[in-house]
Amino acid sequence: MSDLTSMTLAQARDALRQRKVSATELTDAHLAAMEAARPLNAFVLETTAEARVMAARSEDRLRGGEAGPLEGIPVGVKDMFCTAGVRTTASSRILETFVPTYESTVTANLWRDGAVMLGKLNNDEFAMGSSNETSCFGPVVSPWRRRGSDTKLVPGGSSGGSAAAVAAELCLGATGTDTGGSIRQPAAFNGIVGMKPTYGRCSRYGVIAYASSLDQAGPFGRTVRDAAILLRSMAGFDPKDTTSVDRPVGDYEAAVGRSVKGMKIGIPKEYRMPGMPADIERLWDRGAEQLKAAGAEIVEVSLPHAKYALAAYYIVAPAEASSNLARYDGVRYGVRVPGRDIIDMYEKTRRAGFGPEVRRRIMIGTYVLSAGYYDAYYLRAQKVRTLVRRDFETCFADGVNAILAPATPSPAFGIGEKSSGDPVEMYLNDVFTVTVNLAGLPGLAVPGGLDAQGLPLGLQLIGRPFDEETLFSLGEVIEQATGRLKPEKWWTGARP
Ligand code: GLN
Repeated sequence: MSDLTSMTLAQARDALRQRKVSATELTDAHLAAMEAARPLNAFVLETTAEARVMAARSEDRLRGGEAGPLEGIPVGVKDMFCTAGVRTTASSRILETFVPTYESTVTANLWRDGAVMLGKLNNDEFAMGSSNETSCFGPVVSPWRRRGSDTKLVPGGSSGGSAAAVAAELCLGATGTDTGGSIRQPAAFNGIVGMKPTYGRCSRYGVIAYASSLDQAGPFGRTVRDAAILLRSMAGFDPKDTTSVDRPVGDYEAAVGRSVKGMKIGIPKEYRMPGMPADIERLWDRGAEQLKAAGAEIVEVSLPHAKYALAAYYIVAPAEASSNLARYDGVRYGVRVPGRDIIDMYEKTRRAGFGPEVRRRIMIGTYVLSAGYYDAYYLRAQKVRTLVRRDFETCFADGVNAILAPATPSPAFGIGEKSSGDPVEMYLNDVFTVTVNLAGLPGLAVPGGLDAQGLPLGLQLIGRPFDEETLFSLGEVIEQATGRLKPEKWWTGARP
């Protein structure tokens, strides 16, 4: 049974087609693994019955020779994606009773291609966070532990459930959303691969909105190839999303294994920050060496405005969030707390429905958009955003094919370690990832090795708009050199 869950998505796909395993067997093995892994709290809803029905249908199609590209592949869905008839909460109390009547385009694309839904995955409330600790369902426990320690670590966030589930072999792949790093940071913390595509590559239709000009859906996989396979199904033009881009979807899997000889890789000097842990420095240097050994040319580049990106992000994202979250008023969706009059009802509903971090973002967002402060904060942040984007454009115009940087400034930290005091401590996690969202570029997180305590560290490759293929080619070089990283399955009771 464990063999069935430890395959890569690509191996499982091939085994299904060769009839070496049935879709039902594969789904059942994953459902059993999910049950054994409940202490991780990765899933907020297990759709066991739906999974079995979908697997049986896949079985028929496989038998009938009509298999789609993901036929019979069990996947998990971040609870930010609306799934028709299946509760979707954004891990917020305010949506705890919400059952959408429609399906997000990204998940519809996965089902069209034959994937099997195992359940909905935990995340930070409304995807606001970097540790999965703001979820109304409680934190996700990382499958990883420091060597010789049983301290519970965060899986990162906001797509913490997705990353933990893929790393713990509870599903072959998962969806995530990335507004400021929520795919790449948890991928890095869990030793797996995560891709934030170019803005407009995946439809946002049916994805619960956090900050609409930054939000993008993307895949998690245990290998670069698996992420590439998933992205091909998830991506595509969608008339239901006005920011969706009408361009053909590449054959991302074909890019895996392609030569990177002669590619120019930029190392942004501003990302070398004072006080950066030695492990992260080493990881970065090693990544550059690996690409060089594969024939790429390493050049230093400058992103002079990167240092302002985090501050700008934490103005733009809350501003858009405060506007997007205005719709949760107790009238149209989810929870309602009755009040004396309608204003009282709104206030009571929102107070009861939103957690503290979401309330903080709404207050910051409303403040930076208010008449007296709009120019000083919001408008200025938008100008910084343009400058951040131009820095990247300049690099790419100089012939740089991709940029290499660390994915995060540290490995995973303990649950509760950064969530009690100053929120800025948590926001600093996103220092290497937010630039990519502000500029709308694709970013791939790929495992780069373990730190001194045995925890995974991730590298990030940043590409030209719509050039996800180059990132997959480069990512595979690093993956080949690093090897697969696997946590010990302490939660199954095999190890105390
Ligand atoms: N950690 C960032 C935030 O809290 C990014 C979250 C995300 O990408 N959804 O806003």
